[in-house]
Amino acid sequence: MERCPGAPRHSPSAPQPSPGHPGPLLRSDLLILLRVMGGGSAIQPCCESSLYHPGLVHVRVSHRLFGDRCPPVSLSCFQTPRRIPYEEAVAQEFGPAQVGESFGPTWETCWFKVELSIPPAWAGREVHFVWESDGEGMVWRDAQPVQVWRQGCARCPAVYSGVTFGTPATLTLYVELACNGLFGAGQGSMIAPPDPDRRVTLSKAELVVFNRDVYELLVDLEILLDMAQLLGEENQRSFQALYTANQMVNVCDVTDPSTFPAARDLAAAIFSQGNGQSQHTIHAVGHCHIDSAWLWPYEETIRKCARSWVTVVHLMEHNPELTFACSQAQQFQWVRSCYPGLYARIQDFVAKGQFIPVGGTWVEMDGNLPSGESMVRQFLQGQRFFQEQFGRICSEFWLPDTFGYSAQLPQLMRGSGIRRFLTQKLSWNLVNSFPHHTFFWEGIDGSQVLTHFPPGDSYGMHGRVAEVLKTVKNNKDKGRVNHSAFLFGFGDGGGGPTQKMLDRMKRMSDTDGLPRVQISTPDQLFTVLEKESSQLCTWVGELFLELHNGTYTTQAQIKKGNRECERILHDVEVLSSLAVAQDTAFQYPASQLQHLWRLLLLNQFHDVLPGSCIQLVVEDALQYYTGEQGVWLGGHSPVGAAPAWWGWGGSSPGLTLVLNTLSWERSEVISRPGPDGTETLGMSDLAVALVSELLTGKYSAFPSPGEVSDTCFWPLPKEDGSVTMENGIIAVCLDTMGHLTSLQLLDSGRSSVPDGCCANQFALFDDVPLYWDAWDVMDYHLETRKPVTTLLKPLEITLAGGLRGSVRFSLQVGKSSTLTQEIILDATCPYLRFLTQVEWKEAHKFLKVEFPVQVRSTNATYEIQFGHLQRPTHWNTSWDWARFEVWAHKWLDLSEHGFGVALLNDCKYGASAHRNVLSLSLLRAPKSPDATADIGHHQFTYAVMPHQGSFQQAGVIQQAYNLNFPLHVVPASCAQCPAWSAFSVSSPAIVLETVKQAEDRPEAVVVRLYEAHGSTVTAWLQTSLPIKEAICDLLERPLAQGRLPLEQRGLRLSFTPFRVLSVLLLRSC
Ligand SMILES: [Zn+2]
Repeated sequence: MERCPGAPRHSPSAPQPSPGHPGPLLRSDLLILLRVMGGGSAIQPCCESSLYHPGLVHVRVSHRLFGDRCPPVSLSCFQTPRRIPYEEAVAQEFGPAQVGESFGPTWETCWFKVELSIPPAWAGREVHFVWESDGEGMVWRDAQPVQVWRQGCARCPAVYSGVTFGTPATLTLYVELACNGLFGAGQGSMIAPPDPDRRVTLSKAELVVFNRDVYELLVDLEILLDMAQLLGEENQRSFQALYTANQMVNVCDVTDPSTFPAARDLAAAIFSQGNGQSQHTIHAVGHCHIDSAWLWPYEETIRKCARSWVTVVHLMEHNPELTFACSQAQQFQWVRSCYPGLYARIQDFVAKGQFIPVGGTWVEMDGNLPSGESMVRQFLQGQRFFQEQFGRICSEFWLPDTFGYSAQLPQLMRGSGIRRFLTQKLSWNLVNSFPHHTFFWEGIDGSQVLTHFPPGDSYGMHGRVAEVLKTVKNNKDKGRVNHSAFLFGFGDGGGGPTQKMLDRMKRMSDTDGLPRVQISTPDQLFTVLEKESSQLCTWVGELFLELHNGTYTTQAQIKKGNRECERILHDVEVLSSLAVAQDTAFQYPASQLQHLWRLLLLNQFHDVLPGSCIQLVVEDALQYYTGEQGVWLGGHSPVGAAPAWWGWGGSSPGLTLVLNTLSWERSEVISRPGPDGTETLGMSDLAVALVSELLTGKYSAFPSPGEVSDTCFWPLPKEDGSVTMENGIIAVCLDTMGHLTSLQLLDSGRSSVPDGCCANQFALFDDVPLYWDAWDVMDYHLETRKPVTTLLKPLEITLAGGLRGSVRFSLQVGKSSTLTQEIILDATCPYLRFLTQVEWKEAHKFLKVEFPVQVRSTNATYEIQFGHLQRPTHWNTSWDWARFEVWAHKWLDLSEHGFGVALLNDCKYGASAHRNVLSLSLLRAPKSPDATADIGHHQFTYAVMPHQGSFQQAGVIQQAYNLNFPLHVVPASCAQCPAWSAFSVSSPAIVLETVKQAEDRPEAVVVRLYEAHGSTVTAWLQTSLPIKEAICDLLERPLAQGRLPLEQRGLRLSFTPFRVLSVLLLRSC
């Protein structure tokens, strides 16, 4: 048979080729290689070290990657349970160490001292140090972290290589080896609780000669073979790539490096055949997603940041085109304080535009659960940090891995100087495929941000052909825009980009058949998307993740700590601001508040507040809540002292001070503990808002039960053990198990509980997700509902009426958990309160409480940040039933015209409303990654509030605030302080959320208000502070519209639905 010149040679022993490829003409080596690579089994896509993988010995050149080898002159180590600085480590006594030895257990750190001597014969060669071990390592040279050598994937041991040495005869390195993997130390699976006894083994430590020409050939071949394999038989380029690879094998004599250039030229010819003008452009941006805590504690994250970013700056020094998008101000702050030398190098690359701060927030927080004010502070603390450190704020919001996105976020971004948003997490939707990758996202107030989901559905690409092809193929908006983001670099546990990723993409920069791949920046991507945006679609409302719905409930103590600390910081800021206004000698505790806010914001990280972290992280988080902030509650700190101005802390008998930190009048039952441990009840009737009112009367001046009998109630026991209570507003009937069998709104005569139904019904569900234990509750759990029916202690009356009536009962829940509840009705209060204690000892169970209500509506309303939204109560479509478990903040409500029922809570976030049943999710019991999650004691309060009219007219929003922000009732020190109101707002639609001192201006107060009803309204803000005023944005920068005039009625403020306004009040004195 005649051979055409240049055609691949025939190999009679060739195995059968892949279908569609002209196998018989190809060399057998190549076909074996194709089979190994193409089958996808030998090379895992996550395995960056594939070129060193023993499975690829078929590549005849691969074993020539490393040449001569040479062991270290000496190897010694010392081990410590602490994470210590370099200076402390090198001062320790190092003992002998051997390759083959193992070190540990988990979370310990082993420091190695490695003395190396480069053989004279290697002069001029590229010399690498290869280190192979489990664990995560950092290399120090001359007291600086120099490089983290290239790491393997989670399944492979770390293989470090690539540190290039010049020709010094000897040198000393230190290796700081953490005895945990990139993803912690899960026992048996990644998300299992950590194995406390894991040990890491050092299996290799040697100098090698690195053959760069072999490496380059291997990268060429990998790209060509991927093209051959993945472009498909209908694509001519697939065949061209395959034939080129075959020719390369033909011309390449592995024993003769002088033949390598000719082989490389063949590859270069293919790679340099460019695309047409219309080809899609992929914007590759280096990235390294580092979870601020997850399967490892916060402290380890500091080292993960250093390890990852050392790699990045090292790469930048050799690849001036490399860009790297880096989020989370907290992580910059950690590296700044713990690795100042590295931080200085980072600052240089930020100035060069290569190391690019993105996100604008303190951490990549959860997108659902933090309050509106917390989200503002994420941006305020983040953007101020970036401005201060790098001279610019971020222009992209960056939450690639967070479990859903509040519909209020677009407005908060816009108010923080951000018009662009990047995530990819909605690609994790279990049910519905999100219809866009590039679109305008519109929030509940109408604010829009340009949003991009990298279409490859990942933030950890490796620069492979398969990934760039997927990015184009998957892109749902490629008819509207011609550009996509491609974030490359190891992520989650840190790692970042590698040289090989860059080398792959260099070959794909403009190669016919592949999309254009250009190293880019987020700004370049969004700028071009903005130019092409005229055809983009708009998505209105929340970006709901149809997965991880268990994270609204898991780790209840973390969630309770979050809600409580949001309240404490709110109250301390209000009271401190007003104290300054009244007494200029008072020092506003600005730095302490910043410190506490940053701790709270850190705990809102997207694996901490959601509860998807290991036990070590939970302990840290609770310590941040109770250790640091608890001190402030005790009154020994400047903040604790703040209320002294108000008379707080006094001991005059009978003098009581009541502080209301909300902006509306409140008339509530208050209690004060007596000296003998008893509790005295009184009625606070505050006629002014945001007030301190000194109640100079003694407690006997409070209405006694006898005096107020006409407005209050008595629990009345009935023969069947049930009890009725009423307070003139609502009347309830409770059976012996605490069920609410009747809930009447007296004025309307309307009953809230359907006939034959019980509200306040606890129910237990089997809760066994498919994989993500702490994260997911699956829809099928709903089929396992078991009402809680085992009574431990029947209902008994605990407070017999007057200003407050209460009853108590206990239930057994599941096999061994118990629940005790006190149901409380206060005089004048429109809701019934359920103070609940649970001893929780379950495994894979989900506890909820249900309120079937006599209301028909196809939508329920849920409070979110600075507003609310509606979700359906039916499961018509897959989009509806995928929201079988949703999140809310302080309340949810089901209303029909003229009547409704709201469910309030003080620390819960998971909820649902299906048909006419409102459910609050109370406790879960996942076992991974924290086997002890939620086991133990819990206390929480929820409340039910039937109402006439709409929830807006009925004041549900204000009542939920009242439940969450109790009046402060404290002993007063003087009798002279007059009642005083600092602020009031004329419209019930407007909530004055925040009063704080301006960040840089002690003479200014920032007041944040929002429209809560979903209405357009003009309101007057009145204040008794001596001020002149202006409007600012969320970053407290004055806005262009200038000063607002102060009129006689106060400040005139215009709101559209859910508008958030921040007003900077400058003191006039
Ligand atoms: Zn993450």
